[in-house]
Amino acid sequence: MPAPQSFFADLPSTARMPAIFVGHGNPMHAIDDNEYSRSWRRLGDELPPPKAILCVSAHWMTRGATLVHVGRRPRTIHDFGGFPPKLYAQLYPAPGAPEIAQATIELLRSSHAAADEEWGLDHGAWCVLLRMFPKAEVPVFQLSLDLSRPPLAHLAMARELKALREKGVLVIGSGNLVHNLMAMAPGAPPYDWAQEFDLKVAQAIDERDFPRVAEAGSGGRLARLSHPTPEHFLPALYTLGVADERDELSFFNASFDMASLSMRSFVLA
Ligand code: ZN
Repeated sequence: MPAPQSFFADLPSTARMPAIFVGHGNPMHAIDDNEYSRSWRRLGDELPPPKAILCVSAHWMTRGATLVHVGRRPRTIHDFGGFPPKLYAQLYPAPGAPEIAQATIELLRSSHAAADEEWGLDHGAWCVLLRMFPKAEVPVFQLSLDLSRPPLAHLAMARELKALREKGVLVIGSGNLVHNLMAMAPGAPPYDWAQEFDLKVAQAIDERDFPRVAEAGSGGRLARLSHPTPEHFLPALYTLGVADERDELSFFNASFDMASLSMRSFVLA
């Protein structure tokens, strides 16, 4: 009897790709020229060319299942309201990565991930990628956040994806380490609670104590203020979950936008 097909085993091995967490913030960074959009552009220039990108975005939320998009032509999803027509006119026509997406489902066997053909690229993915890889030539696929799982379970699941880095896959978590839309105050300095949570998480990341990062987002006053809902926090756990002990860590964009959005981002390479 022939062995069952393994998408993962068929992928050629590569040098270990970096893994990134990007604080994406306001969708307008996709088209505005500012310190954030320029940093994304520079990063795209500096990175080794990926064979594919796995993006875990705050904006694809599911309950009770983790989905992996396997489409060949992911659509650009304009999942926001009240922005100028120019933002709605943006498209990110990168191809999908169906084989690597299937390999990802294989790696997540114990988490029972399932294939999805409906999603595409939400703004947590394409707003960043438009600046990072403007040619839209690198295949991209997304994995959903199962909000029925606690932060530690996301970290554990992400660890199963680490092997993708040695198959040429750039893992990008896209969210914000502090994200409270109700508290946004344009032009104001960051809130004390926002800075405290941001630094607490940054310190745990710096000490490579990733379970402590997950616990920081699991409850308590600071977590409730910094993340009234968990979806912008969880993507960071995917970047940390695929970390390798040989990786060097570097933070960038360690600043706040509108007082309650931490733009702090990091690269593990
Ligand atoms: Zn967002």
